[in-house]
Amino acid sequence: MKRSHRIWAVFIVFVISIGCQYAFCQEKKANVVILATGGTIAGAAATGAQSSYTSGAVTIDAMVDAVPGIKDLANIKGEQVANVGSQDMSFDIMLKLAKRINELLPSQDVDGIVVTHGTDTMEETAFFLNLAVKSDKPVILVGSMRPSTAISADGPLNLYNAVAVAADPQARGRGVLVVMNDWIQGAHSLTKTSTTAVQTFMSPLRGLVGVAAYGKNDFFNVPAWKHTTSSEFDIANVTKMPRVDIIFACADMSPDLIDASVNNGAKGIVIAGVGNGNMNKASVDAAARAVKRGVVVVRSSRVVTGTVGRNVEIKDDDLGFVASDELNPQKSRILLSLALLKPRTANQIQELFATY
Ligand code: ASP
Repeated sequence: MKRSHRIWAVFIVFVISIGCQYAFCQEKKANVVILATGGTIAGAAATGAQSSYTSGAVTIDAMVDAVPGIKDLANIKGEQVANVGSQDMSFDIMLKLAKRINELLPSQDVDGIVVTHGTDTMEETAFFLNLAVKSDKPVILVGSMRPSTAISADGPLNLYNAVAVAADPQARGRGVLVVMNDWIQGAHSLTKTSTTAVQTFMSPLRGLVGVAAYGKNDFFNVPAWKHTTSSEFDIANVTKMPRVDIIFACADMSPDLIDASVNNGAKGIVIAGVGNGNMNKASVDAAARAVKRGVVVVRSSRVVTGTVGRNVEIKDDDLGFVASDELNPQKSRILLSLALLKPRTANQIQELFATY
């Protein structure tokens, strides 16, 4: 072959290989659906330095358009499922969200889901989805502590990182995750710890699942508890979740709140107990009365970390109570409500608290 022909041949092979790589990259771009529910991440204020704002004022398309480079991470589609501050999140919206996710994820055209959500009750929705989603594809919740109009708004980078995690095959099989302020945390273990700081979410007992940095993710932990594809809960035909109330314990706690909860139709009660799930004697008696009336009582704790064990200072075996193990009151409420979808004994429910 003449030298000039050889140079042309090398050049053509080079062009073809670049073209193939480009086509391959295009093909490999993941498909991520963003389901928007409102929250501060979609919030807007009149000025950048104002603490008051309105949640859910920005549409999902405007939110995505505000994040440079996000469309290079994945093919993105957005849907508005709800538009509330998460203080108004309800079981009805959680059911709608879980059903929509279960509809989307079996499709080969969907590789992962991002849910934008207010931070106030994000851990509750994350844990609900952790138990109700029937797929091991990534489901990522994300929010922000500052509204979109604030100086140093944290929403755009959080959303960028959330899409990067949802598009990452390494995120599969780790249950529902929350991505906020560079940290990837598991739905079971994280909790909101600051009313205003951007580093609000912590997982005090279990630590991080990984870290996310500008589209590069590093995973170093698999959540230990059962979730998603190994969860026994099926919400496909559920239209109403059983009522479960949380009662906050304190010194000189009023036991009549427990009676009122039962009289108003609660099927379950979670005590946000003092210390290791404790409450005063009068409240133990009221909780025992509730159990006799068929209500399931779970002892959790108002303390931010540690477990609640059985029969420590309160005789659960005699009184028929359930101990929440690692779950805080708000997540105990989610698990108890799901557990009450079918008849179960207190012992069977205790088993669920050791599993999820
Ligand atoms: N109240 C807001 C919400 O939970 C707070 C936030 O998103 O950070 O929707």
